[in-house]
Amino acid sequence: MIQVPQYVAELLELLHRAGYQAAVVGGCVRDSLLGRTPKDWDVCTDALPEQIKSVMEAYPVLETGIRHGTVTVLSHGQGVEITTYRTEGPYSDGRRPDSVRFVRSLEEDLSRRDFTVNAMAWDGKLTDPFGGQGDLERGIIRCVGDPAARLGEDALRILRALRFAARYGFAIEENTGRALLACRELLGRIAPERVFSELKGILMGQGVGEILVEYAPVFAVILPEAAPCIGFDQRNPAHHLDVWSHIAEAVSLAPREQTVRLALLLHDIGKPEKFFMGEDGKGHFYGHPQVSRRLAETILTRLRCDNQTREQVLTLVEHHDDDFPETKKGIRRLLKTYGPDTLEKLIAVHRADILAHEKTWAARKIGNVDRAEGMLRDILAEPRPCFAVQQLDIRGEDLIALGMEPGKALGEMLHTLLDAVIEERVENEKQALTALCRSLLRGEKSDT
Ligand code: ATP
Ligand code: MG
Repeated sequence: MIQVPQYVAELLELLHRAGYQAAVVGGCVRDSLLGRTPKDWDVCTDALPEQIKSVMEAYPVLETGIRHGTVTVLSHGQGVEITTYRTEGPYSDGRRPDSVRFVRSLEEDLSRRDFTVNAMAWDGKLTDPFGGQGDLERGIIRCVGDPAARLGEDALRILRALRFAARYGFAIEENTGRALLACRELLGRIAPERVFSELKGILMGQGVGEILVEYAPVFAVILPEAAPCIGFDQRNPAHHLDVWSHIAEAVSLAPREQTVRLALLLHDIGKPEKFFMGEDGKGHFYGHPQVSRRLAETILTRLRCDNQTREQVLTLVEHHDDDFPETKKGIRRLLKTYGPDTLEKLIAVHRADILAHEKTWAARKIGNVDRAEGMLRDILAEPRPCFAVQQLDIRGEDLIALGMEPGKALGEMLHTLLDAVIEERVENEKQALTALCRSLLRGEKSDT
């Protein structure tokens, strides 16, 4: 039994009353059967787009997808996509169908869908021609029809399969799994932004660790810069895993935060290039964070990552190996450098990275992260924490009143005062800061 929300149910009813078939379909059916809340509700129907529009005349309608048979209806402020039953013509480029063709039956529409768990519809009863419900119960992602043919039509399905498997912690059916690997080079045809969007989805899944390891060759296609990590033996007792398996483990131990997980995916990709066998008989990787950063920049730029995410990921990658300072002063300095958001993420990156090392080594290293996190929490809980110029109890205009000109020197003075507060040489209090500023100005004058 699926509970269809009222704002969708009333659209189904309108279509039914006008004599059409109509059912909710795809992701919403899958997620409802899993007991999860669907992101959105999609409807399919045998009504043609013009017929949908006339049945829905009382609602605002957007025609953005109408060429492919999709009309978006705004029902109580929520968009519902209503799509005419259709199949897809041949995919001559493996990217998008050359044409779509409207069809009469729901079963035919379901047969164009990617996986059995996505090929079910509900209109008071379940239509499930490919055994999707059984696959949901067993936790299996399986292509509808011949896997190699379906993945060949649209290579994005390779990543969609990995994303659904990671999201639900599902296994991939054997033939589908083999086809994923066999068809992996076709991913070269897919637009980079779509690859990136699926990759982020995979990283956020609970089962991401297993997927990264089992389908490593697929990731080697979309992240060729990271391919040398796969199976790369670190020959160091701190590491019980090869570089790629360590990356997979670290990602899966991290909080479900996109930037943190992207950073962990990329944090060690510079290691193979920096491998060096020490006189101690152990493998070392001095300088690898910089190489990882460079490779990560290439990857994120190619995948059209937005600038803000890219810059934060690159900072996290570059500094993933720095030990944290042991004093609050030191943590305040880091707060000044990174800001609270990036510093919190850097701590999350460190923790996951360390925990993905050999157990006794990890136990020895984790205290440094715990202490840093505790100090950060304390500092942020202070009534008036001070690690940014804006938090100083003195402003630019106060410095102007002391005789400074607006401009570079004034900005530098604010930073000097902030450093003095961070180093605990002065209270963050207006009079004290004013006095310090005065004496600095006098000193500077007497210097010249
Ligand atoms: P999500 O929870 O990520 O939105 P979803 O299953 O709803 O999952 P959508 O991308 O919204 O995924 O697509 C809706 C439905 O359309 C899918 O359930 C599936 O039936 C079908 N579909 C989407 N993309 C493809 C594709 N590339 N090939 C075949 N069928 C697809
Ligand atoms: Mg959806």
